[in-house]
Amino acid sequence: MIAPSQAVDPAVDPVLLGERRQAVLARIARAAAGAQRSAAAVQLLAVSKTQPAAALRALHAAGQRAFGENYLQEARAKQQQLAELDLEWHFIGPVQSNKTRELAEHFDWVHGVDRLRIAERLSAQRPPARPPLQVCVQVNVSAEASKAGCAPDQTLALCQQVAALPGLRLRGLMAIPEPHPADPRAPFRQLRELAERIRAQGLPLDTLSMGMSEDLDAAIAEGATLVRVGTALFGPRPVRADG
Ligand SMILES: *Cc1c(COP(=O)(O)O)cnc(C)c1O
Repeated sequence: MIAPSQAVDPAVDPVLLGERRQAVLARIARAAAGAQRSAAAVQLLAVSKTQPAAALRALHAAGQRAFGENYLQEARAKQQQLAELDLEWHFIGPVQSNKTRELAEHFDWVHGVDRLRIAERLSAQRPPARPPLQVCVQVNVSAEASKAGCAPDQTLALCQQVAALPGLRLRGLMAIPEPHPADPRAPFRQLRELAERIRAQGLPLDTLSMGMSEDLDAAIAEGATLVRVGTALFGPRPVRADG
Protein backbone atom coordinates (compact mmCIF):
# COMPACT_ATOMS: atom_id res chain seq x y z
CA MET A 1 0.00 0.00 0.00
CA ILE A 2 1.46 3.33 -1.02
CA ALA A 3 0.08 6.45 0.61
CA PRO A 4 0.19 9.53 -1.63
CA SER A 5 2.30 11.36 0.97
CA GLN A 6 5.14 8.84 0.71
CA ALA A 7 6.62 10.68 -2.23
CA VAL A 8 6.93 13.87 -0.17
CA ASP A 9 9.90 14.65 2.10
CA PRO A 10 8.40 13.93 5.54
CA ALA A 11 10.04 17.08 6.94
CA VAL A 12 7.80 19.25 4.76
CA ASP A 13 4.83 16.92 4.20
CA PRO A 14 1.64 18.97 4.69
CA VAL A 15 -0.40 15.88 5.57
CA LEU A 16 2.02 14.71 8.25
CA LEU A 17 2.51 18.20 9.65
CA GLY A 18 -1.24 18.77 9.73
CA GLU A 19 -1.73 15.50 11.63
CA ARG A 20 0.98 16.36 14.15
CA ARG A 21 -0.58 19.78 14.66
CA GLN A 22 -3.98 18.20 15.33
CA ALA A 23 -2.36 15.81 17.81
CA VAL A 24 -0.68 18.71 19.65
CA LEU A 25 -3.95 20.68 19.69
CA ALA A 26 -5.72 17.63 21.12
CA ARG A 27 -3.02 17.36 23.80
CA ILE A 28 -3.49 21.05 24.63
CA ALA A 29 -7.26 20.55 24.84
CA ARG A 30 -6.85 17.54 27.17
CA ALA A 31 -4.47 19.40 29.46
CA ALA A 32 -6.74 22.45 29.52
CA ALA A 33 -9.83 20.35 30.28
CA GLY A 34 -7.94 18.65 33.11
CA ALA A 35 -7.31 22.07 34.63
CA GLN A 36 -10.88 23.32 34.05
CA ARG A 37 -9.51 25.79 31.55
CA SER A 38 -10.67 26.59 28.04
CA ALA A 39 -8.43 25.23 25.28
CA ALA A 40 -8.98 28.56 23.52
CA ALA A 41 -7.02 30.21 26.32
CA VAL A 42 -3.84 28.40 25.26
CA GLN A 43 -2.12 29.55 22.08
CA LEU A 44 0.12 27.19 20.13
CA LEU A 45 3.39 28.76 19.02
CA ALA A 46 5.13 26.59 16.42
CA VAL A 47 8.87 26.66 17.13
CA SER A 48 10.42 26.42 13.70
CA LYS A 49 14.14 26.94 14.38
CA THR A 50 16.32 24.90 11.99
CA GLN A 51 13.25 23.93 9.94
CA PRO A 52 13.14 24.88 6.26
CA ALA A 53 10.70 27.50 5.00
CA ALA A 54 8.77 24.75 3.23
CA ALA A 55 7.93 23.17 6.59
CA LEU A 56 6.51 26.45 7.87
CA ARG A 57 4.56 26.86 4.65
CA ALA A 58 3.09 23.38 5.07
CA LEU A 59 2.12 24.01 8.68
CA HIS A 60 0.61 27.34 7.74
CA ALA A 61 -1.53 25.54 5.16
CA ALA A 62 -2.74 23.36 8.04
CA GLY A 63 -3.88 26.44 9.95
CA GLN A 64 -0.82 27.58 11.93
CA ARG A 65 -0.10 31.30 11.94
CA ALA A 66 2.30 31.97 14.86
CA PHE A 67 5.91 30.82 14.52
CA GLY A 68 8.81 31.09 16.96
CA GLU A 69 12.42 31.42 15.85
CA ASN A 70 15.68 31.49 17.85
CA TYR A 71 18.31 32.57 15.35
CA LEU A 72 18.00 35.96 13.73
CA GLN A 73 19.68 35.39 10.36
CA GLU A 74 17.90 32.11 9.83
CA ALA A 75 14.58 33.69 10.76
CA ARG A 76 15.12 36.68 8.44
CA ALA A 77 15.76 34.34 5.50
CA LYS A 78 12.51 32.50 6.17
CA GLN A 79 10.58 35.74 6.63
CA GLN A 80 11.70 36.80 3.18
CA GLN A 81 10.82 33.42 1.64
CA LEU A 82 7.37 33.48 3.26
CA ALA A 83 6.65 37.19 2.92
CA GLU A 84 3.37 36.64 1.07
CA LEU A 85 1.88 34.71 4.01
CA ASP A 86 0.25 36.51 6.93
CA LEU A 87 2.41 35.03 9.68
CA GLU A 88 2.99 36.21 13.25
CA TRP A 89 6.69 36.08 14.12
CA HIS A 90 7.94 35.50 17.67
CA PHE A 91 11.60 35.71 18.62
CA ILE A 92 12.28 33.24 21.44
CA GLY A 93 16.08 33.07 21.47
CA PRO A 94 18.49 34.99 23.69
CA VAL A 95 18.51 38.68 22.75
CA GLN A 96 21.90 40.28 22.13
CA SER A 97 22.07 44.05 22.04
CA ASN A 98 23.53 44.16 18.53
CA LYS A 99 20.44 42.30 17.26
CA THR A 100 17.75 44.51 18.75
CA ARG A 101 17.23 46.71 15.68
CA GLU A 102 16.39 43.81 13.39
CA LEU A 103 14.18 42.26 16.07
CA ALA A 104 12.32 45.54 16.55
CA GLU A 105 11.85 45.92 12.82
CA HIS A 106 10.88 42.40 11.82
CA PHE A 107 9.12 40.62 14.70
CA ASP A 108 5.72 40.86 16.35
CA TRP A 109 6.82 39.43 19.69
CA VAL A 110 10.09 39.04 21.62
CA HIS A 111 9.94 36.56 24.53
CA GLY A 112 13.45 36.78 25.96
CA VAL A 113 13.65 40.30 27.39
CA ASP A 114 15.60 39.96 30.61
CA ARG A 115 17.24 43.34 31.17
CA LEU A 116 16.37 46.99 30.86
CA ARG A 117 19.05 47.87 28.33
CA ILE A 118 17.61 45.39 25.83
CA ALA A 119 14.08 46.64 26.44
CA GLU A 120 15.12 50.27 25.96
CA ARG A 121 16.84 49.47 22.68
CA LEU A 122 13.88 47.46 21.36
CA SER A 123 11.53 50.29 22.28
CA ALA A 124 13.65 53.01 20.70
CA GLN A 125 14.21 50.95 17.55
CA ARG A 126 10.59 49.87 17.02
CA PRO A 127 9.44 51.60 13.81
CA PRO A 128 6.77 54.17 14.75
CA ALA A 129 4.53 52.94 11.93
CA ARG A 130 4.23 49.53 13.55
CA PRO A 131 2.19 48.69 16.66
CA PRO A 132 4.28 48.39 19.83
CA LEU A 133 6.46 45.27 19.97
CA GLN A 134 4.85 42.67 22.24
CA VAL A 135 7.27 41.40 24.84
CA CYS A 136 7.54 38.86 27.61
CA VAL A 137 10.05 39.27 30.40
CA GLN A 138 12.09 36.10 30.72
CA VAL A 139 12.48 34.85 34.27
CA ASN A 140 15.14 32.47 35.52
CA VAL A 141 12.92 30.16 37.53
CA SER A 142 15.58 27.51 37.91
CA ALA A 143 17.89 29.91 39.76
CA GLU A 144 20.94 28.86 37.81
CA ALA A 145 23.54 31.59 37.60
CA SER A 146 24.55 30.60 34.07
CA LYS A 147 21.08 30.76 32.56
CA ALA A 148 19.34 33.63 30.84
CA GLY A 149 16.46 35.37 32.54
CA CYS A 150 15.79 37.98 35.14
CA ALA A 151 15.99 36.93 38.80
CA PRO A 152 12.48 36.38 40.22
CA ASP A 153 12.93 39.09 42.86
CA GLN A 154 13.86 41.64 40.17
CA THR A 155 11.06 40.80 37.78
CA LEU A 156 8.47 43.24 39.13
CA ALA A 157 10.88 46.16 38.77
CA LEU A 158 11.83 45.16 35.23
CA CYS A 159 8.16 44.73 34.27
CA GLN A 160 7.39 48.22 35.59
CA GLN A 161 10.22 49.66 33.51
CA VAL A 162 9.21 47.74 30.38
CA ALA A 163 5.57 48.79 30.77
CA ALA A 164 6.66 52.43 30.67
CA LEU A 165 8.47 52.14 27.33
CA PRO A 166 6.41 53.53 24.43
CA GLY A 167 7.65 51.14 21.74
CA LEU A 168 6.81 48.05 23.76
CA ARG A 169 3.67 46.37 25.00
CA LEU A 170 4.34 44.19 28.01
CA ARG A 171 2.32 40.97 27.63
CA GLY A 172 3.66 38.67 30.31
CA LEU A 173 6.37 36.37 31.57
CA MET A 174 8.33 33.62 29.88
CA ALA A 175 10.50 30.83 31.29
CA ILE A 176 12.57 27.89 30.10
CA PRO A 177 12.93 25.72 33.20
CA GLU A 178 15.61 23.08 33.55
CA PRO A 179 14.27 19.80 32.13
CA HIS A 180 12.92 17.10 34.48
CA PRO A 181 12.63 18.89 37.83
CA ALA A 182 11.58 16.70 40.78
CA ASP A 183 8.12 18.29 40.68
CA PRO A 184 7.35 18.88 36.96
CA ARG A 185 4.84 21.61 37.77
CA ALA A 186 6.95 23.54 40.31
CA PRO A 187 8.79 25.92 37.95
CA PHE A 188 5.57 26.69 36.06
CA ARG A 189 3.73 27.30 39.32
CA GLN A 190 6.50 29.66 40.36
CA LEU A 191 6.14 31.66 37.14
CA ARG A 192 2.34 31.82 37.48
CA GLU A 193 2.54 32.99 41.09
CA LEU A 194 5.08 35.62 40.15
CA ALA A 195 2.79 36.88 37.37
CA GLU A 196 -0.09 37.03 39.85
CA ARG A 197 1.96 39.14 42.25
CA ILE A 198 2.95 41.49 39.44
CA ARG A 199 -0.64 41.75 38.25
CA ALA A 200 -1.64 42.65 41.81
CA GLN A 201 0.66 45.67 41.44
CA GLY A 202 -1.48 46.89 38.55
CA LEU A 203 0.38 45.59 35.51
CA PRO A 204 -2.00 43.92 33.04
CA LEU A 205 -0.03 40.76 32.23
CA ASP A 206 -2.09 38.39 30.09
CA THR A 207 0.55 35.94 28.86
CA LEU A 208 2.42 33.06 30.45
CA SER A 209 4.81 31.74 27.80
CA MET A 210 5.80 28.36 29.20
CA GLY A 211 5.80 24.70 28.19
CA MET A 212 7.49 22.90 25.29
CA SER A 213 7.02 19.50 23.61
CA GLU A 214 8.02 17.54 26.73
CA ASP A 215 6.25 19.48 29.43
CA LEU A 216 3.41 21.47 27.89
CA ASP A 217 0.82 19.47 29.86
CA ALA A 218 2.33 20.49 33.22
CA ALA A 219 2.65 24.09 32.01
CA ILE A 220 -1.01 24.24 30.96
CA ALA A 221 -2.05 22.76 34.31
CA GLU A 222 -0.29 25.75 35.91
CA GLY A 223 -1.83 28.35 33.62
CA ALA A 224 0.29 28.59 30.45
CA THR A 225 -1.44 30.79 27.86
CA LEU A 226 1.15 30.16 25.16
CA VAL A 227 3.10 26.93 24.66
CA ARG A 228 6.21 26.89 22.47
CA VAL A 229 6.29 23.59 20.60
CA GLY A 230 8.92 22.44 18.12
CA THR A 231 9.71 18.72 18.11
CA ALA A 232 6.14 17.51 18.62
CA LEU A 233 5.13 19.42 15.49
CA PHE A 234 8.10 19.17 13.17
CA GLY A 235 9.84 16.02 14.40
CA PRO A 236 13.47 15.95 15.58
CA ARG A 237 15.47 19.02 14.61
CA PRO A 238 18.26 18.89 12.05
CA VAL A 239 21.59 20.12 13.42
CA ARG A 240 22.30 23.73 12.55
CA ALA A 241 25.19 26.16 12.18
CA ASP A 242 24.14 29.83 12.34
CA GLY A 243 24.14 32.61 14.92
C1 LIG B 1 13.57 25.09 20.89
C2 LIG B 1 12.71 25.82 21.85
C3 LIG B 1 11.41 25.39 22.13
C4 LIG B 1 10.79 24.14 21.54
O1 LIG B 1 11.34 22.99 22.07
P1 LIG B 1 10.76 21.54 21.72
O2 LIG B 1 11.25 20.69 22.81
O3 LIG B 1 11.31 21.15 20.39
O4 LIG B 1 9.28 21.65 21.70
C5 LIG B 1 10.64 26.16 22.98
N1 LIG B 1 11.12 27.27 23.55
C6 LIG B 1 12.37 27.71 23.32
C7 LIG B 1 12.85 28.96 23.97
C8 LIG B 1 13.21 26.99 22.47
O5 LIG B 1 14.45 27.43 22.26
